[in-house]
Amino acid sequence: MIPPATSFGLSVIGVSPWLELASDVRLPPLRALDAGDGGWYIAMYPEEEAPVTRTPAIELSRLYRWQRLTSTAAVLTWIVATAVAGAAFCPPAQAARAIRTIEPRTDLRTGPSRAHNRITVLPPGITLWAEDYEGGFYRVPLAPVLTAWVEESHVQPLDRSVPRPALQRVTDVSVKGTDAGTVVTVALDRPVAYRVQQQLQPPVLTLDLFGVTLARYGVRQLPSDRCTWAVEARQVTDGWAELRFDLAFTHQRGWRVTQQDGSLQLLIRRPYNAPGLDGKVIVIDPGHGGADSGAIGPTGVREKDVNLRIARKLAPLLRERGAIVRVLRTDDRPVGDGGGKRAELEARLAASGQPDADFFLSIHNNAVGTGDPARAHGTETYYWTPMSALPARILQNHLCARLETRNRFISWRPFYVLRSGDLPRVLVECAYVSDAAEERRMKSEEFAVKCAEALADGLKEFFDMAVNP
Ligand SMILES: [Zn+2]
Repeated sequence: MIPPATSFGLSVIGVSPWLELASDVRLPPLRALDAGDGGWYIAMYPEEEAPVTRTPAIELSRLYRWQRLTSTAAVLTWIVATAVAGAAFCPPAQAARAIRTIEPRTDLRTGPSRAHNRITVLPPGITLWAEDYEGGFYRVPLAPVLTAWVEESHVQPLDRSVPRPALQRVTDVSVKGTDAGTVVTVALDRPVAYRVQQQLQPPVLTLDLFGVTLARYGVRQLPSDRCTWAVEARQVTDGWAELRFDLAFTHQRGWRVTQQDGSLQLLIRRPYNAPGLDGKVIVIDPGHGGADSGAIGPTGVREKDVNLRIARKLAPLLRERGAIVRVLRTDDRPVGDGGGKRAELEARLAASGQPDADFFLSIHNNAVGTGDPARAHGTETYYWTPMSALPARILQNHLCARLETRNRFISWRPFYVLRSGDLPRVLVECAYVSDAAEERRMKSEEFAVKCAEALADGLKEFFDMAVNP
């Protein structure tokens, strides 16, 4: 027996994306929940917001006959709302609906949690078809053999009248040279989900298009193109087309994808054509800043200050050697207009992705998260795209040699500011601020100078090496 909603006299704060309630249904209150010893609790707020009643989930389940408890507010709300409305659970077929990406970078993952790896990252404005919902994630089949999950907060559910997107037929693909590099143009009616994968030996870029059928397998390579050697197009499976570009040069510089005016364009950036730092555009990102101090050492040294000092020493060294240097923050302030940690990182990533940028270097210093602070010391360097592994290795070696620190490792890691293929991106952790001896060194001017010299020398070595004959 479900008590009438009026016995609580309040509105609900949200309902599941799957549930369509009639507008005249009144719902009981549901404001917050947290984990207690006996499971999940719901906090119910009377109309005047007081007093707060916490009811154990088990009692509510008797009242509302709910069928399943999970740890997300959305599902709990849905279950209560379902009981009140007297509606049945939506089976997946009824639940399916169109959703659209709204985040600057929407992660498509292999499973319904943030712990799952990313299959690809999409810009805003891509319509996807969701077939299920679980724990705050929509299940989005990209192709019959490839299923992705997307976080609820990254997308907007579209009206139920929006039909499942039909497969698009690609009738024209061309490859032509421009000043910026080679542009691959795929004629499409509307934006699609895609993935770009980079390979180094041999140098290859692969563009996967989802929801797409190749109507013709021809790809025209115009004489202006100097970047691609061989091109291959194939239909991997229903709705999944793959374009593979064997590149005519060894050291890749990055790629960008844009979709507008009925076409998708992949820019393969032209390779570096001269060695050294002269004319190279280098973006320096001193980590943290403002309210975010980063790691703090045993005597109170703040990582954000050390990062900034190193950046201030590095910028003039690079300029002396002819580089064009952009520093994302030059004082103790965060980058961007606020809006939380993710928005701040997005501001750094967006600001570093200028069309002419040649290299992104994020400067950090490390701390032990868990474990023995007396044991962790030394230098680490991180990268994400394959093309960033070479400069990561070079910068790591220069830092360790110059600072005489322990060479811990270089590491592939999907850090936010590294997760873009538009240019080589590296994040250095020069030393451990949590280590007493290394923290002491960070107080000296000499430490920042040595870091800056090592990074400048490393960048010079990379650009000398990365030139294509
Ligand atoms: Zn940091």
